Amino acid sequence: MKIAHLDGRAVLVLDGGVADVATASDGRFGPDPMSLYDDWDAFVTFAAGVTAPTGELDETKLGNPVPHPRQVFAIGLNYGKHAEESGMKLPEVPATFTKFPASLSGPFDDIEIVGSSIDWEVELVAVIGRRADRVAEADAWSYVAGLTVGQDISDRKLQFAAGAQFSLGKSRRGYGPMGPWLVTLDEFANPDDLALGCSVDGETVQDARTSDLVFGVPRLVAELSAVLPLLPGDVIFTGTPDGVGVARKPPRALQPGQVLETWIEGIGRMRNVCR
Ligand code: ZN
Repeated sequence: MKIAHLDGRAVLVLDGGVADVATASDGRFGPDPMSLYDDWDAFVTFAAGVTAPTGELDETKLGNPVPHPRQVFAIGLNYGKHAEESGMKLPEVPATFTKFPASLSGPFDDIEIVGSSIDWEVELVAVIGRRADRVAEADAWSYVAGLTVGQDISDRKLQFAAGAQFSLGKSRRGYGPMGPWLVTLDEFANPDDLALGCSVDGETVQDARTSDLVFGVPRLVAELSAVLPLLPGDVIFTGTPDGVGVARKPPRALQPGQVLETWIEGIGRMRNVCR
């Protein structure tokens, strides 16, 4: 199933429209998209029986499907070729930082260009469905509610200021577009191997597969939950493949007026205009 955030309310995306979760469940679930994670398994059972759309899907009104996670994990250097283009060795444990939650934004929101070093980073984003504490890698997918598309928009100047401060450099307001919806795992033939990419004004700048992740989603859930509990509704930005602007010769950065499109196979596509 596909779960979206439309006009401030959780909806199921169906063939031919959407079904409002709170209306369809007589108020048991929703309308806050985060409330679905309070009782995720019961919600999925309920939602599987909803087949009749109650409204239309206006994609431009979609917000971040997971708008207020308590914890946001983001992983650096998690594709071999990206580590190479960054001139860095592959880390032995996931290189982890946060995008502060207030930086997250919707799949069609504008990106405010501040300065001349704003960069793109397409990423697969995993959303936690059940509290995960010391989870084994073999069991880890069962703690994941679903997958969505993310952009880890990065201010490279701020990121490498003061030595290095990845979390702040990747947390300017609106610098975490997510969407267009959450897709549950049953929709994927193989959730460990999805094509992902992004384009600037129609020119593809990143093009890879999640099977090239150094630490895939199950390993990340295992590694992170060995350190602290992952909570329902938490999100993990899993890292970006090669092709970022800062590693190009000469370096490139997003400019006002440019259109950034971001996609992952089996999930969908976001479109963010730079202002
Ligand atoms: Zn990133």
